Amino acid sequence: MCIVRGRYDLGSLPTETRNGKGIKRVTTPHTEKPHTEHEIPFNDLGRGTRALRPLIDDAIARVLDSGWFVLGPEHNSLESEIAEYLGVGDAVLVGNGTDALQLALIAIGVRADDTVLTVANAGGYTSTAVRSLGATPVFADVDPSTLLVSVSTLSEALDRLETLPSALVVTHLFGASADMTSIMRWADAVGIPVIEDCAQSMGAVHAGKKAGSFGRLATTSFYPTKNLGALGDGGCVFTSDPALATRLRQLRQYGWTSKYVTALSGGRNSRMDELQAAIVRVKLPFLDAWNDRRREIHQRYEAAVPAGVRMVNHAQDGYVGHLAVIETADREKTRTLLTEAGIHTDVHYPIPDHKQPILAGTIQPSLPVTEAAAERILSLPLFPELEDSEVDRITDVLKRI
Ligand SMILES: *Cc1c(COP(=O)(O)O)cnc(C)c1O
Repeated sequence: MCIVRGRYDLGSLPTETRNGKGIKRVTTPHTEKPHTEHEIPFNDLGRGTRALRPLIDDAIARVLDSGWFVLGPEHNSLESEIAEYLGVGDAVLVGNGTDALQLALIAIGVRADDTVLTVANAGGYTSTAVRSLGATPVFADVDPSTLLVSVSTLSEALDRLETLPSALVVTHLFGASADMTSIMRWADAVGIPVIEDCAQSMGAVHAGKKAGSFGRLATTSFYPTKNLGALGDGGCVFTSDPALATRLRQLRQYGWTSKYVTALSGGRNSRMDELQAAIVRVKLPFLDAWNDRRREIHQRYEAAVPAGVRMVNHAQDGYVGHLAVIETADREKTRTLLTEAGIHTDVHYPIPDHKQPILAGTIQPSLPVTEAAAERILSLPLFPELEDSEVDRITDVLKRI
């Protein structure tokens, strides 16, 4: 058994055979009962986990034997390894990606009644983090071709706001980095500190640097479906500012400056445990190869879609293929075609933040690109363990849209 088409030999779990019709049969040691797969799932975390199982078992055993379960050696090693991977001075692990955003906002000085500028098309995580501080998210539209924030959409948003937001959260959506060179120039000139949300873009590169190494702070999530995921919850805040890193380490642990000494407001308990840290350490060395495979699959979708159907991203260097998103005028028809072929799809995301029920009755801007995209976008299966034969089946349907 190998993962990522032969690049790694990780032992012999599971055993796979193919019958005469090319239909894949999988035998796991747990069931010993072969089953035939007809449906192509949107994601299948079992495949990657099975392939890594011996390494994960070793990591778990190491933690159990150590008797250290929170803020121990695995945690500290992951902090160094992932900071080095991203090319930043420091990484501070926290409980999940939303906590990472919330603690980053607190660390940068955002308080109740402030506003935070962000996008409305990225699943609402930033809005949730902002609201949990008693602050208010304010929204910029996105560029119609990338569906990412740009200097032009940011300037347009700033023109309609009455006060300068206390922070800007840039979400690197679907695995593509926003144009951080021009965004940082703009934000520095205007005087807004920038937080990059890298939960969908771990490994993405812009102008020769990793997404996440441009802003004052960056965040990620280790939710299991991310390109770099744990087997449970986890998150991280990145910064190259040592004072901010110190503050984050205090904020994630009750606002303590030392044991039992509470000196910071905004403190809480948000930690990533040793087991999850050890598991993410197993996965980090594979991330670039997985991202290569994601790009390769995305490239095949791009080659298959007919004129009139647009893929939002392009599999160039720097893009890490978190989600393969197409835009079609008749999304439901496309979705039905795929469903009838046994191919599972999803929509990321169907309701923009400014249209969520929690904001009913408030005055919100019109965000024409965000709103139109929400009606047209459809996400295809895209994970490194997709079989070539499954990609073939998907491209066959794409050609018929
Ligand atoms: C998943 C995700 C988050 C939230 O992460 P959790 O760990 O689920 O809290 C934040 N931002 C983006 C862009 C995400 O995709």
